[in-house]
Amino acid sequence: MSFAQDSASFLQSNAERERLLLAPYAMHSCDSRGRLHEEMIEHPYRGPFQRDRDRILHSSAFRRLSGKMQVFTGDMGDYHRTRLTHTHEVASIARTIARALRLNEDLVEALALFHDIGHPPFGHAGEDALNECLKEHGGFSHNRYALTLANEIEQRYPGYSGLNLTREVLDSQAVRIDKLKGAFPAEGELGPLLEAQVVEAADSVTYDAHDADDSVKLNLVTLDELCTVPIVHEARATVRRHYANVRGSILRRAVVHELIDRQVRETLAAAEVWLRDYQDLTADEVRRLPNRIEPSGELADKKRELERFLYARVYRHERLLAMRSRATEQLRRLFVEFQQKPELLPPSYRHRAEVVGLPRAVGDYLAGMTDRFCNQRFFEICGESDA
Ligand code: MG
Repeated sequence: MSFAQDSASFLQSNAERERLLLAPYAMHSCDSRGRLHEEMIEHPYRGPFQRDRDRILHSSAFRRLSGKMQVFTGDMGDYHRTRLTHTHEVASIARTIARALRLNEDLVEALALFHDIGHPPFGHAGEDALNECLKEHGGFSHNRYALTLANEIEQRYPGYSGLNLTREVLDSQAVRIDKLKGAFPAEGELGPLLEAQVVEAADSVTYDAHDADDSVKLNLVTLDELCTVPIVHEARATVRRHYANVRGSILRRAVVHELIDRQVRETLAAAEVWLRDYQDLTADEVRRLPNRIEPSGELADKKRELERFLYARVYRHERLLAMRSRATEQLRRLFVEFQQKPELLPPSYRHRAEVVGLPRAVGDYLAGMTDRFCNQRFFEICGESDA
């Protein structure tokens, strides 16, 4: 019996709460298309997307995000973002946007915690290396690997492999793969759920702000150099209007706060303009519109300027290029070694090789590693320390 059915209970059911709080265009739990494996038992007080969030949070792959780099490696210090702290920042910003627009925060949180779960060790350098290793076997994409983790590799339940997430979470992740291939749904087709659009926007807001922050903190660029980019210059001017004499790390942090706040404020303002006219549409109806919740117009232009700066001055910095070639070499050599000596693979991946073939199983094993574990395996197998 649910709480709502139990007249003696004063606790509110998930469905009742959503009916009161969410807009019609939000993804309501009661309209979920369910899970791949039917589950007979409804949870008494957690809705399906809350359960997805918890399944992701308790997964092995999620915990390993703490050992995976975002942009900067562990040997560059312990201040900067890891893949895990990036993920939590995205979730926080995404929930802020979702709440303001009366979208489903539980779904947004699940999608945010899930969005980078498929990243291999060593960030995009690791992804490029694995994609090259697997080019004869379908390539590698962290967005696709997130689905492999969620549907095949995670082992949590007695009856089936995978986390058995709702179709809304899995389909939203599948859209991320399509988007990377440039195949965003055509006009009239179903676009991403608004909740998925919010997470995509929050990801972009977050990494632009925190990569700017980390790059100054790690002395790859100075704040003055960063302020040659108009959006950062404007953020500093805003801070100085309120606090004329602020300097040093407090100034840097205040500028980052303003960068995040401006992006969220303007993304929300733009969304409000078009959503205002469609307040009575359902989640499916609003997905047929060409409109998107995303940084747009002048904000999008200014973000591109910042991203061009970060690409030229930070992502291609010699300290990161050195890491990139080291990571590429490690993954390439381990990919070859594990194929020549599959007995070095853990039993679960030897078994997986019988199902998906040895190259893909090796790729899946390597992709699941943290940066540190990859270094360690490289040392054990190839006899060289990365340190
Ligand atoms: Mg991300």
